[in-house]
Amino acid sequence: MLDADFFHRWMSTTTGRVDREAAHLTELDSAIGDADHGSNMQRGFTAVSAALEKEPPQTPGAVLILAGRQLISTVGGASGPLYGTLLRRTGTALGDAPAVSEEQLAHALGEGVAAVAQLGGAQAGDKTMLDALLPAVEALATSFEAGAGAARAGALATIPLQARKGRASYLGERSIGHQDPGATSAALLIAALAETAAATGGGA
Ligand code: ADP
Ligand code: MG
Repeated sequence: MLDADFFHRWMSTTTGRVDREAAHLTELDSAIGDADHGSNMQRGFTAVSAALEKEPPQTPGAVLILAGRQLISTVGGASGPLYGTLLRRTGTALGDAPAVSEEQLAHALGEGVAAVAQLGGAQAGDKTMLDALLPAVEALATSFEAGAGAARAGALATIPLQARKGRASYLGERSIGHQDPGATSAALLIAALAETAAATGGGA
């Protein structure tokens, strides 16, 4: 079972990966956006880690709700409310159980991803974070490792797509040939989940 400590470590691992990849995320956003995705994610997850350290929540749901709230309040860009919604809705779906199974997490993440689609109005193939998150959620039903692989593949598969949502859509056909920054950071989030599970010894 996955307890609050597992979720706390997932968020800390994500913060570390975002720190290491911030320059790359900003480089991707400079090609088809406004060159702030790395700093947006870094600011957001630094705040998430600080809030979790200050007052560690006692349940998986509470960890993700606190994390989501931090992202919404600290990230100015489009990605803040979208990632904030993802984590908050996933946390809400987990309820107040002290520990959850891998299956419960996969199901809750599915609800979180659906909330992102509803908030942003994007769907598969629009060259957004959903192109990593949707395949990840499906593959998570098999394993965390499969979820991470599907997210990475989904991020790479955004390269030939034309953006239909967000800032990159203003470029029209000129958005083709570039990897979507948000899909790339979404793959980091799921990779951090798989890493945390592997470090825990298989998770659930
Ligand atoms: P901004 O575009 O406001 O500068 P960021 O650079 O932090 O915000 O984030 C950009 C990323 O947000 C994009 O690469 C894309 O993946 C994601 N995004 C933008 N709009 C949407 C949307 N409507 N639905 C889902 N994801 C979106
Ligand atoms: Mg941007």
